[in-house]
Amino acid sequence: MKLSTVKQSFLEALDSDYDGEEVLSFFYQLIEEFLGEQRFVLHLKPDFEIDDNEALKFEKALEDLKSHIPIQYILGYSEFMSLRFKVNSSVLIPRPETEDLICYLDSYLKKREVYRILDIGTGSGCIGISLKHKAPRAQVSLMDVSKEALKTAEENAKINDLEVELLQEDVLNITTLKNSYDLIVSNPPYIRNLEKEAMRPNVLNHEPHLALFVSNEDPLLFYRKIAMLAKDHLNLGGMLCFEINEAFGEETVALLDELEYKQIELINDRFGKNRIVSAIR
Ligand code: GLN
Repeated sequence: MKLSTVKQSFLEALDSDYDGEEVLSFFYQLIEEFLGEQRFVLHLKPDFEIDDNEALKFEKALEDLKSHIPIQYILGYSEFMSLRFKVNSSVLIPRPETEDLICYLDSYLKKREVYRILDIGTGSGCIGISLKHKAPRAQVSLMDVSKEALKTAEENAKINDLEVELLQEDVLNITTLKNSYDLIVSNPPYIRNLEKEAMRPNVLNHEPHLALFVSNEDPLLFYRKIAMLAKDHLNLGGMLCFEINEAFGEETVALLDELEYKQIELINDRFGKNRIVSAIR
């Protein structure tokens, strides 16, 4: 079968669900993944042929895209901070704004010696593993309630040749941590159920709700719990850093202020939205 025919079928079949640029970007990523060819192969060889097995893979991917399965789950990986992370339906796909959190913490890590880092609700491990990559001498622990997520995080640490500790715990149900840390970081669930309506089907129908949603009534549940734990398990002068729902910047700051954290900062992401809150114990 001609690869150009597959391209045409992608553009036609996905026309009503995605814009053309997006479809082409999916198609080029699949070319690299399935054929090991450069994405511009059709420019060089317009008659490029694929075999039946390869055609089947494209057909399956097309069906998945029609069902709004995210391209990262189809490929099985995602890029984050120039590292490769395996992803599957047990973990959120790393978001670009979370890279802004890493960049923010990277400048902190450059100024201050950090020995122990804890990433709570690690999912794919993208935050903790990227921090370990930036500060290789730090001991990094990754915590998640989900066994499957933690298994994925473990594989991601291996893929990136980094050593981390894995902790399977439900942060809402623990009263103590077994160590003290210099940095505790978390991107916990923060989307209220009432925000579901505005969400795209690729996220809403395919990414893990356990990692995304909190009740409308208590959207800061995880923040309060983590900030309280960190009061006892953050070394003096250590940093607590959260990714937040853009709608709760002031509330998160107020929560940390009530708990007597110092130097509280609210920082925008690359899209100009309130996204990061940090504080010092
Ligand atoms: N930022 C993610 C999203 O927009 C949500 C991450 C989270 O809930 N922690 O889907």
